Amino acid sequence: MKTKIKIFKGDITNIHVEAIVNAANNTLLGGAGVDGAIHRAAGPKLLEECKKLGGCNTGEAKITKGYNLNAKFVIHTVGPVWYGGKNNEEELLASCYRNSLELAEKADVRTIAFPSISTGAYRFPIEKAVNIAMCEIKKFVEKNDTIEEIIFVLFSEKDYLLYKNKVKEIFGFEI
Ligand code: ADP
Repeated sequence: MKTKIKIFKGDITNIHVEAIVNAANNTLLGGAGVDGAIHRAAGPKLLEECKKLGGCNTGEAKITKGYNLNAKFVIHTVGPVWYGGKNNEEELLASCYRNSLELAEKADVRTIAFPSISTGAYRFPIEKAVNIAMCEIKKFVEKNDTIEEIIFVLFSEKDYLLYKNKVKEIFGFEI
């Protein structure tokens, strides 16, 4: 495995990477949380481009330019709302990570940052979500080495520590 996995505590809009992933909603027209922060930092041209995309299904992903962000691209993915786990939420969250990474690979992205998809307003239990995130990342990096660096950006200390411990458990190294 050549890809570096990193964990960062802070605001994803400040990270210097080629692509940042947005935890968007089905309309792709902006929202609260990380979605709102990304649209504010990217500026109104991001919304203009998003309006042309015709929304996005849950579990899928679409790519736009990054406009005023440091990042060249934003990969918008729509995580599932947690309804207790009987609506295929786990598989849909896994496909958010998979589809985002596949789009990044197609766009020749070498560095990418993810937020904790679905664990805010969409209420996905974070302990389950972090496990899904890391397992999907591991599967991807085992067969792909075009992406050099994957950074998880967490807002709270609690989430940061959960991700940090999970990296140790899944990848077997300390960060
Ligand atoms: P979702 O609707 O997919 O649950 P949210 O934006 O509500 O998305 O929350 C996802 C996670 O992103 C939460 O843990 C939230 O604290 C975090 N978050 C919110 N704003 C930012 C930001 N600017 N940078 C990184 N993470 C953020």
